[in-house]
Amino acid sequence: EKAQIGVTGLAVMGRNLARNFARHGHTVALHNRSYGRTKELVEQFGHEGTFIPAETAEEFVASLERPRRVVIMVKAGGPTDAVIDEFAPLLEPGDMLIDAGNAHYLDTRRREAALKEKGLHFVGAGVSGGEEGALHGPSIMPGGPKESYDALGPLLEDIAAKVDGEPCCVHVGPDGAGHFVKMVHNGIEYADMQLIAEAYDLLRQVGGHEPGEIAEIFSGWNEGRLGSYLIEITAEVLKQVDAASGKPFVDIVLDQAEQKGTGRWTVQAALDLGVPVSGIAESVFARALSGGADVRKAAADAGLPGPSAAAAHPGDLQADVEQALFASKIVAYAQGFQQIQAASKEYDWEIDPGAMAKIWRAGCIIRAKFLDFIKQAYDKQPELATLLVDDYFLDAVSGAQDAWRRVVATSAAHGIPSPGFSSALAYYDGLRAERLPAALIQGQRDFFGAHTYRRVDKPGSFHTLWATDDRTEIES
Ligand code: NDP
Repeated sequence: EKAQIGVTGLAVMGRNLARNFARHGHTVALHNRSYGRTKELVEQFGHEGTFIPAETAEEFVASLERPRRVVIMVKAGGPTDAVIDEFAPLLEPGDMLIDAGNAHYLDTRRREAALKEKGLHFVGAGVSGGEEGALHGPSIMPGGPKESYDALGPLLEDIAAKVDGEPCCVHVGPDGAGHFVKMVHNGIEYADMQLIAEAYDLLRQVGGHEPGEIAEIFSGWNEGRLGSYLIEITAEVLKQVDAASGKPFVDIVLDQAEQKGTGRWTVQAALDLGVPVSGIAESVFARALSGGADVRKAAADAGLPGPSAAAAHPGDLQADVEQALFASKIVAYAQGFQQIQAASKEYDWEIDPGAMAKIWRAGCIIRAKFLDFIKQAYDKQPELATLLVDDYFLDAVSGAQDAWRRVVATSAAHGIPSPGFSSALAYYDGLRAERLPAALIQGQRDFFGAHTYRRVDKPGSFHTLWATDDRTEIES
């Protein structure tokens, strides 16, 4: 008997993906650089399905039916290239290498182009949901050639999370599209987490609530429109009490957020595409600020002063924070989706944004009720310029904005950082502004660099001769 699919790289993610395939009745070939992990998997979980363990790459390749489907689940970067170099010479035209790790989409583009020359299909597939997702049903975002999806899609759809029987897996687009979308998913995840953290901070510092009480507030919100995995686990974390000290768990954790890099990649890519993903950028910078222990210590030593006194919040703080959180979340998602659309245009990926919202509804970290509305918005209008103008989101933001402004004002007055809430509001106000001070910037640019400007009243480019006495305007 031959295997329908093989997995190489059997650390926590690869092992669980392999088990997931086997539990769905597929025969799974197994391989790992060091054989120990392969043996261990078969010993511990061999009873869950049919596995064909292989010690060498050659044995592994020989055990697969054609076209061969090889899932690579190793450390991203150099290790992925090493594995590709090892397997590519053993494969035949039409075979598929599926990189399910967190690769950078530009690496995926490079790898796909190189393997195409050998007639091999390279599929960069984003996989979200951590180890539990990999085992019980992740959200899967495969890119690569469309033809490969015919032979690969049904297997991936089998193991993906389901919503009302529909799999959270779709062909995202060619080459790096899948990894790009996975990257933006992670960027949005950063923004979501930052906004939730700001909500907690305000409820605690301005509202005077204890972590246990805030856990209750989040549990309540989880029943409403904010209902999502991240809100749910936030309540769990806030409820946790440290066994050793008896203190709230959140108080014994060092307040320096770490990152593995996909948020940073999202912002770097957004800068190149010229898309203002301020929500994601602020969340990456907020982590960087938290981790900058030396600078924070210098600030503490110097005693950077906070406000002398601040008035109480002029409203129902809890209700207002819920509104600010929801509105800011809408902005962060609108920006992330705009980035996906911009990349899709840039690379001719033809990504359907509604389908992305659809496959994020389960399995992944940002799964939420909210995504149904995003899907509906793009179903109604596939070319939607921004989610903010869709009826549902427009209503939500108009309903939230007074509360949102009060929350941002309160955080500023109390000296509590809310980069997520405030930058989202600034973005919103920037979008709706009839006139932006960008006109003045154009004037400055023309003054010092003769960069020219356009006029509101006639077409063409103009330059003012700033150095002359009469400062005449010329058409350029
Ligand atoms: P790791 O990222 O820790 O990678 C370990 C695996 O990579 C082992 O199988 C290891 O083999 C193999 N490996 C490392 N270097 C090489 C090399 N030079 N040649 C061949 N194999 C090598 O494993 P994870 O399971 O945590 O993650 C796998 C991938 O999934 C990563 O790209 C990660 O970013 C991504 N991912 C992880 C998630 C998570 O929650 N952990 C979620 C979503 C994606 P050996 O046993 O011989 O050392």
